[in-house]
Amino acid sequence: MQMMDAAVFTGPGRIALERKPVPQAGPGEAVVKVTMTTICGTDVHILKGEYPVQPGLTIGHEPVGVIAELGAGVAGYEIGQRVVVGAITPCGQCHSCLEAHQSQCGGHAMGGWRFGNTIDGCQAEYVRVPFAMANLAPIPDGLSDEQVLMCPDIMSTGFGGAENGGIRIGDTVAVFAQGPIGLCATAGARLRGASRIIAVDTVPERLAMARTLGADHVIDFRQTDPVDEILRLTDGRGADVTIEALGTQQTFESCLRALRPGGTLSSLGVYSGKLSLPLDAFAAGLGDHKIITTLCPGGKHRMQRLMNTLASGRLDLRLLVTHRFPLARIEEAYALFASQTDGVLKVAIVP
Ligand SMILES: [Zn+2]
Ligand SMILES: [Zn+2]
Repeated sequence: MQMMDAAVFTGPGRIALERKPVPQAGPGEAVVKVTMTTICGTDVHILKGEYPVQPGLTIGHEPVGVIAELGAGVAGYEIGQRVVVGAITPCGQCHSCLEAHQSQCGGHAMGGWRFGNTIDGCQAEYVRVPFAMANLAPIPDGLSDEQVLMCPDIMSTGFGGAENGGIRIGDTVAVFAQGPIGLCATAGARLRGASRIIAVDTVPERLAMARTLGADHVIDFRQTDPVDEILRLTDGRGADVTIEALGTQQTFESCLRALRPGGTLSSLGVYSGKLSLPLDAFAAGLGDHKIITTLCPGGKHRMQRLMNTLASGRLDLRLLVTHRFPLARIEEAYALFASQTDGVLKVAIVP
């Protein structure tokens, strides 16, 4: 049996490199040889035991690679073809998928999120891809692995927050938290035509990157109250769209307080515990506010659209890749990524 290295969740507090059999493609599936992947904030939640997965599961949901094996019935692809696969791998056939809610595939919340959640993920030398024909997205010539590394999750999620926020040309948009997803939401807001983008964080490197990716104003929340400042910048009205990219009561609440009546709060964060609505900011339920949540859009069509955007030259997300590690040193990469030190945004992992 051919064996490979894989980053495995062994129990709360520990993700370790282990030897596992190389997966094989069943009918409708493919096996992708991973050439580059990355670590996500969600993986850190898994590492800490805050999001439960089965011990023994391979972690990771952001694969870039080449097709190594095609299962029975998979047509239209070739062995050796370079592909991106989304973090969300919809079946393309169920009620949710056909209703265009691929992330909720199977009819239950988050059902489309399989890699590193319900099936082995891609922080490994090889990954088995379910529903291959719905999910393998060929990489256009001219785009490097590093250029497309943000497509599977970070770019898709951040852009999803901007798209689902319904940003119109000329809108004022505030993005709370400028981690990798918040930064992509900022970039997405610019592409959607917002005329004024306000980015909130406190890490100097992140605020500087927010400016590079399209923010017109940056607010360091440790120095300036972001709600007061956003209200000041909008003559007391509030932003047309606020995007929450952290997942805390405080940022959610600030998004609502900084939003104009009739505006949209687009939430990307993963919350834990309890989330409550301050009724004064919510106008007692009569403010015509819209609150919308987004789980990373997946599937090959989505990946293709994101890669089209990158190929157009309108955006270069290589800027977010601040550190590089071989798979053999992934535990070190986790420690750095989780500590948010050394200006880290995203780490590239190369098997
Ligand atoms: Zn992720
Ligand atoms: Zn489905």
